Amino acid sequence: MTPAQRAAELRRVLERASHDYYVRDRPTMPDREYDTLFRELQALEAAHPELRAADSPTMRVGAEPASSFRKHTHLVPMISLANAFSDDEVAEWDARAAKIAGDAVHGCGYAVELKIDGAAVSLTYRDGVLVTGATRGNGTVGEDVTANVRTIREIPLRLRGKGHPELIEIRGEVYFPFDAFEALNAERAKAGEPVFANPRNSAAGSLRQLDPKVSESRPLRFFGYAFAVPGTGKLPFATQTELLETLESWGIPVAPHHAHYRTLDEVYARAHEIEHTLRAELNFGIDGMVVKVDSLAVQAELGIVGGREPRWAIARKFSPDIAETKLLAIEVNVGRTGKINPYAVLEPVEVGGTTVTYATLHNFDLIQQKDLRVGDVVLLKRAGEVIPQIIGPVPEKRDRKHPPKPPKIPDACPSCGRPVRVEEKDIFCENDRCPGRRLEAIVHFASRGAMDINGLSYARIEQLVGAQLVHDVADLYRLKAEDIAALERFAEKSSQALVDAIAASKAQPLSRLLFGLGIRHVGEEAARLLARRFHTMDALADASLEEVEAVHGIGPTIAASVREYFDDPRSRELLARLERSGLTMSEPQKAEVSSAFRGLTVVITGTLPTLSRTEAKELIQSAGGKVTDSVSKATDLLVCGEDAGSKLEKAKALGTEIIDEAELLRRIGR
Ligand code: NAD
Repeated sequence: MTPAQRAAELRRVLERASHDYYVRDRPTMPDREYDTLFRELQALEAAHPELRAADSPTMRVGAEPASSFRKHTHLVPMISLANAFSDDEVAEWDARAAKIAGDAVHGCGYAVELKIDGAAVSLTYRDGVLVTGATRGNGTVGEDVTANVRTIREIPLRLRGKGHPELIEIRGEVYFPFDAFEALNAERAKAGEPVFANPRNSAAGSLRQLDPKVSESRPLRFFGYAFAVPGTGKLPFATQTELLETLESWGIPVAPHHAHYRTLDEVYARAHEIEHTLRAELNFGIDGMVVKVDSLAVQAELGIVGGREPRWAIARKFSPDIAETKLLAIEVNVGRTGKINPYAVLEPVEVGGTTVTYATLHNFDLIQQKDLRVGDVVLLKRAGEVIPQIIGPVPEKRDRKHPPKPPKIPDACPSCGRPVRVEEKDIFCENDRCPGRRLEAIVHFASRGAMDINGLSYARIEQLVGAQLVHDVADLYRLKAEDIAALERFAEKSSQALVDAIAASKAQPLSRLLFGLGIRHVGEEAARLLARRFHTMDALADASLEEVEAVHGIGPTIAASVREYFDDPRSRELLARLERSGLTMSEPQKAEVSSAFRGLTVVITGTLPTLSRTEAKELIQSAGGKVTDSVSKATDLLVCGEDAGSKLEKAKALGTEIIDEAELLRRIGR
């Protein structure tokens, strides 16, 4: 194929994909593939300038506005952004900018914002009053969707505050919150209607409805991040950071987590943090972050390239966190509490930066609610370190002639074969001797948050249980190196190391042992509270229901479960065996000393989820901190709970660091 033929082919393929994406709101190509082909075409056109054409997708933004809407001509064209898929590409962008504007690029630093995966819109305000809302369209002319934009409650019909230019277009992104996107898709899947491939398409689709009532029924939201004014009037802001602050003061919602950085190293660190941690916590889709040269004057100097992309900003894209794949099977396993957990076996697919083959399905009720069937094409979401989740099926890709049947709810335990019990949304195996449950109980006991037994992996526990060397957790402490050495893949040395690691776990305090026993509803935090209050296993075993319930942070469900556990003679027998093996059945009386807050002045405000004020104060003091009552310039840290009032406001105003109880506990090492 000659370069000219290849360029023509790429244009054709990209055109078709763009039409499906922008006009029909139903993409037919993965974004990554589109981006790769787009870059190939850009490279071809750069190498062969004679192949450049004004109608090439590389020269244009978006797509022509649909004729069903009135047209709106933007004051200043709405452009796109160049992409960077790595830190190196961000560095290259920065070097290109510095070549033009010199050190000024670095002097003003970078504004970093989330890249909202929605539909770009421009809101025209005349004398502070909203007059038009328009889509980006082809960048120059968009669709007039004012009636639909007006249904988005958080978009102010009149700007608040002062200083707004007579005529201004405020640009931003209309987005669809993630939970609402899932709910809308579930509804559509049930009705056999096509589902939206991602929140961006559902936002664009909902915004471009001819009937504003349909838009109104969809929970669309808006974040502003840019502006355009005619000519060069005086503006009340000089940097991107100030622009965002000004928009907020005018009542325009601005996306959270924007920040200013001095160096590119900080920008790279932020990209990592957003992609791997923050992204999973957001209730709206992002496909990257945007890095902008902060100073508007430097931005103006840098200008636009190819009529399509500003030189002063770059989209640092992340790997897509939603993908389509096939649901090959629904399998089940049994957990230590007897709960039978269904999970999905998938055709391996790249999503959120890794290849995913399994996804959790939580329970059969959810499978029914989402109408998932083996053989379906499904949408999968994975962000950061979060366990992959199935959003739902893509019903239009279901085999119409031979539609798969809904999966059957198992009536027997997959491990022991005994009949199961249905309790609300879950099903349970009630057989205490079920080998699957026993295995999981030992895995939990050995896990990091519990007894933390080094080298006792899932596979090794399976081996020990399979060889009948271990039936319950107390058996672990009777294992001898020579018994283990006889098993496959165990050498003499590793057998001894395992026995030593098990012996070392005897020193773990009561809190970890309590958690490791897997008493229903007793998580790490409850175990810690109980151990701190009762100090010894015996004292807890003898405590009345009322005494257990009286522990701050322990509710009636946990208390009842604890009592039930100790009333069971089998538990007492197990604990006696553990004690005979020499386990520490008590909690050290003194809180472990940490120096996490040494030299810091801390204020506590609001109601903390589990700690009382006194407890929180003691913890901070034991870690070297000083606790005072009011927030001032001397305050280093505010620990904030629910219903916080003026102290929180003051801390925000002073820029004091604010943390919650979970972070307090984390810093102390709890
Ligand atoms: P883009 O989505 O990559 O980036 C530019 C847009 O980001 C802006 O126009 C703006 O709307 C948005 N944005 C979000 N947050 C922002 C912020 N804080 N500051 C500034 N802008 C922000 O570019 P595009 O031109 O809208 O679309 C091109 C992309 O769309 C491609 O990279 C591709 O991934 C996708 N696409 C896919 C297909 C397909 O078939 N799958 C087809 C066409 C386009």
